[in-house]
Amino acid sequence: MVHTYIYLDPELYNRFSCEMCGTCCRNEWLVTVSKDSYYRNEQLFKSTGRADEFAQAFTQLSGGRPEEYAYIAKQALGGGCWFLDSTNCCRLHREAGHQHLDSVCQIYPRYPINTARGIELTLSFSCPAVLKLAAHRFEPLMITRSDKPPVSAGLDAYTAQVFPSQQPRYSPLRYYFELEQHFIDILQSRSLTIEERLAFLQTVVEEVLDLAKFAEFDRQLQQLFCRNYQFLDEKAIQQQAEQLNEQDKATPDILLEHFLVNLVFKKIGFLYGLENMVRLLQLAWRYTISRSQAAPGTAAVMTCTEAAIVHLELQYSHNRKELLNMIHTQEGKQ
Ligand code: SF4
Ligand code: SF4
Repeated sequence: MVHTYIYLDPELYNRFSCEMCGTCCRNEWLVTVSKDSYYRNEQLFKSTGRADEFAQAFTQLSGGRPEEYAYIAKQALGGGCWFLDSTNCCRLHREAGHQHLDSVCQIYPRYPINTARGIELTLSFSCPAVLKLAAHRFEPLMITRSDKPPVSAGLDAYTAQVFPSQQPRYSPLRYYFELEQHFIDILQSRSLTIEERLAFLQTVVEEVLDLAKFAEFDRQLQQLFCRNYQFLDEKAIQQQAEQLNEQDKATPDILLEHFLVNLVFKKIGFLYGLENMVRLLQLAWRYTISRSQAAPGTAAVMTCTEAAIVHLELQYSHNRKELLNMIHTQEGKQ
């Protein structure tokens, strides 16, 4: 079967290479495995006379759903996964191969999403090797279509399913792909500060939600996009006139822009609603600013920004419920 692959961004995606730092296998959260993976391991361990180790390493979760059926124990020292060895290699991988691992272990830090327009691919910014690539990237991240599959394996598990046409008739989410591209264009408008881009995005989302109540939503949406692009173009021309010598290196703001764009590409607006998307992006920006207390322009600001992004990405991946609660709590206080 021929698939369409949609990358954010092919260069970043294809340049990723694991540096074997072991960060993803040494963490605070539980590494959960699916029901299939649990029984695949039971068979492996029992067939090799290691039933005792299987019982120590895998614990069934009460009421476990098929996709989160059991978890892997941690080592007593250092919090690493039971199977992580002293050279940061996975013993399970070495013994039984890539396909034997649970899908989460197979795909991380890759982030494949199954959508109506194809298989969409990006990376998780919680992996230090990904962050390093993003921190050296000055140009905006590009959404690019291709019929070539990525070099990496393990793309039969998806982190989300996004089919906008299945949304109710008057939901703006039926136009999710058009909206996503527009939101990303706003987030990448470097003639505005990050704060201004987020404020503009909030206004646009409010307008979109308002327009969705009326007939001819699609025509009105196109008109809104045209007005917005005109505004952004004027800003860009003004800025070019004022600032001819643009720096050609990534700054903390550019890294933050890449991270926010990546969150939008991960379809947070579709999964949690457009208003929550705006709140989550603003929370990410505020959190990053609050953590970047070093003197402006110093290398320490980049380090603080990177640490804040890793923290946020981990919260998004492993503690999403709490993150969304935090958004609502903050909302209540405003
Ligand atoms: S955190 Fe990234 S670089 Fe480190 S081991 Fe995991 S995938 Fe590899
Ligand atoms: S099973 Fe292997 S890849 Fe998965 S978390 Fe454990 S050590 Fe890492």
